[in-house]
Amino acid sequence: MICQACGIEAPTKKVFFVQHIGAVVMFFHKRIGGMFCRDCMRKYFNEYTLKTLFLGWWGVISVFATPVVLLINIVNRLRAGSLAPVPPGAKVPVLTDEAVNRLHPLTSELVDHLNKGKSLFEVAADMAPRAGVTPGQVVRYAQALVAQKT
Ligand SMILES: [Zn+2]
Repeated sequence: MICQACGIEAPTKKVFFVQHIGAVVMFFHKRIGGMFCRDCMRKYFNEYTLKTLFLGWWGVISVFATPVVLLINIVNRLRAGSLAPVPPGAKVPVLTDEAVNRLHPLTSELVDHLNKGKSLFEVAADMAPRAGVTPGQVVRYAQALVAQKT
């Protein structure tokens, strides 16, 4: 719902990519993961997979690690394959005063749902159209509530 890489409000899926660079006896690992939008998912898949493909093999351990890393990335890429595109004009959700005013009457309902163990994204998707805000704004609002309490 909110991409953890670029922050825009768009359909997301959980992905995980690894980059492996071999350097004779050493190697370097880098990993990234989270709920990503389709643009970020493609961007990091391409970057991590291409670097691994060209730079991964150059080491004793790396010869064995590289195919595994490539497989992890490809499996993650395929699993996220059905991810819907980023909607045109998608942007980072901002909690405007107007959105806060609209969501304020629904606060107790929101807290109630979350206390009952419903996922924030589920609640946000349900509540956003009723409040006339975007689901991303509901998420931001809930996060602001939590931040206030602590
Ligand atoms: Zn993104």
